Amino acid sequence: MIKRILNWVLPVALALGVVWVTAGAAEVVVPDSITCVYCDGSGEVKCAYCVGNGTVRCNYCDGTGRVTCTFCNGTGRIRCAECFGKGYIYDGGNRVKCPTCKGAGSFTCDYCVDGKIYCEMCGGSGRLKCVICDGYGRVRCAVCDGTGKMKLR
Ligand SMILES: [Zn+2]
Ligand SMILES: [Zn+2]
Ligand SMILES: [Zn+2]
Ligand SMILES: [Zn+2]
Ligand SMILES: [Zn+2]
Repeated sequence: MIKRILNWVLPVALALGVVWVTAGAAEVVVPDSITCVYCDGSGEVKCAYCVGNGTVRCNYCDGTGRVTCTFCNGTGRIRCAECFGKGYIYDGGNRVKCPTCKGAGSFTCDYCVDGKIYCEMCGGSGRLKCVICDGYGRVRCAVCDGTGKMKLR
């Protein structure tokens, strides 16, 4: 009867962080170790940093996978260097349409789509591998040091 109660009480007491004193219970057979209650004997717990996903949101692109194009400052257009964006030039005193940009004053930026380029840090996925668990999603249980067992004595 005492044994049965102990088997039930001991893991609960350990889970609550209560120090179990076995002194004076010499007649009761206490096992050397029990299954670790923190990791349920697996020796691993979910990585708290990435919540078990193995990846975290990329903070370079705020998780969107895309960042502002540095060539056009996110405008999607690059100013024509020939006419300084005006769309016309002076040819012998006559104002003529700029032949380089055909009067538009700017070009569509070739480096991006709508002023955005894909994030090189996360490869456009918007997620980065968790550095704490190296993308595994789980880390070694610190309570049992990865053994899955809690020593009782
Ligand atoms: Zn651009
Ligand atoms: Zn031009
Ligand atoms: Zn990114
Ligand atoms: Zn992680
Ligand atoms: Zn453990």
